[in-house]
Amino acid sequence: MSESYPAIVVASPDARGTLQQLSDDDLPEGDVTVDVASSSLNYKDGLAVTGRGKVVRQYPMVCGIDLAGTVRDSAAPQWRPGDEVVCTGWGLSETHPGGYTRRQRLRSQWLVPRPPELSIHQTMAVGTAGLTAMLCVLALEHRGLSTETDGEVLVTGAGGGVGSVAVCILARLGYRVVASTGRPENESYLKSLGAADVIHRAELAESSSRPLEKERWAATVDTVGGQTLASALRQTRYRGAVAACGLVGGTELSTTVLPFILRNVALLGIDSVFCPTMLRSKAWQRLGRDLDADLLDVMTTVEPMRNVPQLSDAILAGDTRGRVVIDTLP
Ligand code: NDP
Repeated sequence: MSESYPAIVVASPDARGTLQQLSDDDLPEGDVTVDVASSSLNYKDGLAVTGRGKVVRQYPMVCGIDLAGTVRDSAAPQWRPGDEVVCTGWGLSETHPGGYTRRQRLRSQWLVPRPPELSIHQTMAVGTAGLTAMLCVLALEHRGLSTETDGEVLVTGAGGGVGSVAVCILARLGYRVVASTGRPENESYLKSLGAADVIHRAELAESSSRPLEKERWAATVDTVGGQTLASALRQTRYRGAVAACGLVGGTELSTTVLPFILRNVALLGIDSVFCPTMLRSKAWQRLGRDLDADLLDVMTTVEPMRNVPQLSDAILAGDTRGRVVIDTLP
């Protein structure tokens, strides 16, 4: 009889994710089997586990968009048993079973090696959220942002996972980072991550009849969308850029073309799920170099897998802070 192990599974479209027992007979197609050491909690995991977002596309589905662990067996020449690997995105928890389990089978081309600077658990403290934060930084740099650029860098939803990692990276690179949060009680936390200043998210949440406002931001990492994204665009300096990756404040965007055609502002879309392997590898290398591992530990809490259902409600309510690593022991 094959060994059984716990996993968070959504059984049907109207069900929430619950702790269930699976075995190797339940593993999907793939050429690499991984013993999963940890996963993480992202906003999208909240949507998948609660069923509030249309994330899961086939049932039953093991949730968890991230995983890290050790290769157990491999039919792919580039991976050997014992290799430590990370997998984020690629449809995990959507079209392919994900990381809230002790064992998973995956496609070899989805895996990246654990960066040497980070422990296996720290890679999940980074997870999709941290990878996305770095993809935002890379996109802004590609557009021309440097520490020589005039102006501050805004991070919205700063108390969350993407936001906290973005604050850390940008501050360490030498930018003057302004963190926008709806939780003023997190001011000292955000300053400990490197924010030079903290503003209330309400300052950015108002609609405006003015197509342009006083120029302030050299760049923005926006995890919120909606009015917040529109405000960031109106306040971006000449030739500045906004990296848009999130939607916690809404999916709509009401703007004019004036920031683009009068101030040469760039709106940069960021997707981490199908990010090409070369860019993904570069982002992980930069995370190893530019993210302070001690600060990563400050922003991270570790939770057992059995707590995923209630944590999913908490992240959708905006009640989690920084990053949550999921220990795949139940
Ligand atoms: P978190 O829940 O950890 O962070 C979101 C933060 O946004 C919250 O902590 C809160 O911070 C703030 N917030 C919550 N609700 C609202 C609201 N209604 N209006 C304004 N701010 C709010 O989520 P993640 O960091 O995991 O993800 C952030 C966003 O980025 C999500 O929309 C997610 O889907 C998206 N994302 C996109 C990816 C991509 O590939 N494009 C990959 C990863 C994430 P505070 O209290 O400090 O204001």
